[in-house]
Parts: sequence; C-alpha cells; structure tokens
Amino acid sequence: MEPFAYIRATTLQEATTAYASHPGSRYLGGGTNLVDLMKHGVETPGTLIDLTRLPLHDVEELSTGALRVGACVSNTDLAVHALVRTRYPVLSQALLAGASGQLRNVATIGGNLLQRTRCPYFQDVSKPCNKREPGAGCAAREGPHRDHAVLGHSAHCIATHPSDMAVALAALDAEIELYDGERGTRRVAAADFHRLPGEHPERDTVIRPGEIVTAVLLPTVVPGAVSAYRKARDRASYAFALASVAAVLHLDDGRVRHVALAFGGLAHRPWRATTAEQHLTGAVPTDEAVREAVDAELAGARPLRDNAFKVGLARNLARDVLSTLVRSASGGSAPTGRRP
Ligand code: SF4
Repeated sequence: MEPFAYIRATTLQEATTAYASHPGSRYLGGGTNLVDLMKHGVETPGTLIDLTRLPLHDVEELSTGALRVGACVSNTDLAVHALVRTRYPVLSQALLAGASGQLRNVATIGGNLLQRTRCPYFQDVSKPCNKREPGAGCAAREGPHRDHAVLGHSAHCIATHPSDMAVALAALDAEIELYDGERGTRRVAAADFHRLPGEHPERDTVIRPGEIVTAVLLPTVVPGAVSAYRKARDRASYAFALASVAAVLHLDDGRVRHVALAFGGLAHRPWRATTAEQHLTGAVPTDEAVREAVDAELAGARPLRDNAFKVGLARNLARDVLSTLVRSASGGSAPTGRRP
C-alpha cells in the first residue's frame, strides 16, 4: 500500500476544508471498500479524511413521520432499527443481504452508497479498465463477464453496481443529502444518485468533488403499503447479487395505487423499473398483469455473451416478489385472473 496522511475531522467544515487543501484526498467511512482498493493499488489517496467522528450517527424520526438517517450510521444499526424493520422491511432485508455481519458492523450508510463496482478487472491494476483509467479499454468485454450488466451498459463499461441497500432506497423514493463547504446542502433522489456509465464510467454517481454524503431521508410510509427485497447470488451469504429485486406495493380496492420496483445486479446503478410500474399502476395485479409488466421492463435488456441467464433470473425474482406482496397486501389471497 502506498503511504498516506490521515486527518480526523470533527466538523463538516473541517472535513471539506481539509479536502480542498489536500489534492488527491479521499473521505473515509468504515473503510471496508476503500481500504481494500488501496491494498490493490486501485486507489492511492495522498490523504484520508476520516468522517466517522462527525455527528452523523443518529436515526431521527421527523415530525412528518419520515426518517433521517445519518451517513455514519452502521449498516447493522440501520438494519435492526425498530422503525426500519417495521416501516421499511425492504431496506432492512436489503441491508442484511449485503456483505457479512462483521462488515455490516463497520460499514457506514454513506460508504455503502459510494462503494465501487466489484468488476474483477477494475480491481486488477494489470488489466485495462476505463473506470479506473479513462481511455484504457474494458477487459471485461472480451473476458469472462457473467456477473456484468444486462441493462444500460455502454461500449465503455459493462460493470454493475454492488450495493443492495441502494436498490431498496431507489424503490423507497428515498433522498440523499449532500454537503459542500461552499454551496451548502442539497438533496438528490436516491434513484438518480448513481449514474449509467455512458462515456464516463469513471463517475459512479452525481456527487461533486469534495461533497460529503451527510444523510439518507426515508419518506413517510403510506398505511397499508408492503415491501420486500430478494436477492439471487452464487452462495447463501457474503456474495454480491447476480440479480435482486426491491419492491413497494400499495393496493386500494384491489387495484395498484402505487408500485415501485427496482433491480440490483443488472446495471451500473440500481435500475428503477418505470415501464413495469406504469403497466401495473391502476391495474388489478393478477399473475398475468404482473408477468406482462415485468416482461415489458426486461424487453429492453441487452445481455452479453455470458450473462443471458440474468434476464430470466430477474424476471422470476420480480414476478415472485410482486406476487408475494400482492397476496400480503390483499390479506393473504391473491386476486384471480378475472377482471371486475
Ligand atoms: Fe472497467 Fe467497467 Fe470494463 Fe469492468 S466493465 S473492466 S469496471 S470498464
């Protein structure tokens, strides 16, 4: 590992000032991804600015019933928080599906959002990678790429985003709060926080240089809404998603009043399935309607040589999760195929 300087910030202003005065610095949360990348030589920051002493460790219920989650809250603490487990089961389930117990105890919510792809070529500095070095090429295109993207990829990068939590946040219509020493605070919709690769795969998110993730805002839950997260992976734990699904559903008099569906493991960012949502909104959610909606969404998939299986996997996951939520929201009995 290359030598680096270490600064422990105790205020946001201190952190952003340190960032501005130390070119090539990086913010440090739990370090569960960044430090690994430093060991591999993928990241070589001259200075690490530790944010874990900032006052960002609280989960606060706002007067509206929404939750404000500080960026330094650990993945474990958020997953087991009583209000998260009861109001946002999709988020608790997604967090518990990620990494291992030890990693979840250390990893922060802010760091979870900013973790980098686990594309093996990105992590191997002997291989060309446009994300690590713009213009170098993409070794994954010709090499084995069964774990890579089937939606939204570009000629420059076919990597997938690794976070489970971010998929749940996209489905929940959460917001990410960002702080910049000069411009103050702004909020970005979680579904818009991560980018597709396009011509600039080196940029994973819309965050600006020097900005700090300070909080995640979870909107008020509508009474009667149900939610769930499901993940398919190569082993039962401690593995990234081949495909995953986060869904939120609210029925009103047997019809879909609100549905949000997001896929993980399929694209460079959590993939909000807006086509499927449009198909289902206002409809009676029969098995046939769910199948048609999911198929319409995945009709846009562009699988690569090794990963066509992901399309079928995602289709089955989404249909199963939505059908399960329909039964739950209907009090245990799914609607029949007969339309009123
Ligand atoms: Fe790099 Fe993206 Fe290609 Fe992986 S898929 S080698 S991250 S450019």
